[in-house]
Amino acid sequence: MEIKFILDVHLGRLAKYLRLCGFDTLFSTFYDDREITDIARREGRVILTRDRLLIRGAREVKGYLVKSQNHDEQLREVFGALELRDHVRLFSRCITCNTLLEDVRKEEIADRLLADTRRYFSVFRRCPGCGRIYWEGSHYENMKKSLASLL
Ligand SMILES: [Zn+2]
Repeated sequence: MEIKFILDVHLGRLAKYLRLCGFDTLFSTFYDDREITDIARREGRVILTRDRLLIRGAREVKGYLVKSQNHDEQLREVFGALELRDHVRLFSRCITCNTLLEDVRKEEIADRLLADTRRYFSVFRRCPGCGRIYWEGSHYENMKKSLASLL
């Protein structure tokens, strides 16, 4: 079964990392505790939070209390506690809006790329949700490196 998450307002960076690893992750600064609990129950999501009261108030819902304040450590912590490693699908989901990415031909998006990107890269993916374009540039390599120890 797919593991899905909903994160509280303090875990924005962690949300991006989880999406980067392909996990369906909801995060919004507009959710209040009640909404987080309701959505988690309705959609079968695991709540990740740094708020002990949120976990305690959430009945019939799975939750995990994140202890670390550092986002690298948080990812490591959650990976360990929930055994996420085998479920990772790196760079399959938009880190901004959580939508699954789709392959896109370079010709279709060429006018939106900088000259250097157009010259040096050939494989691109596009987010059908927000239109953001992804490719395996330096950003990608850096993220891969920081995730390497986990995967
Ligand atoms: Zn998107």
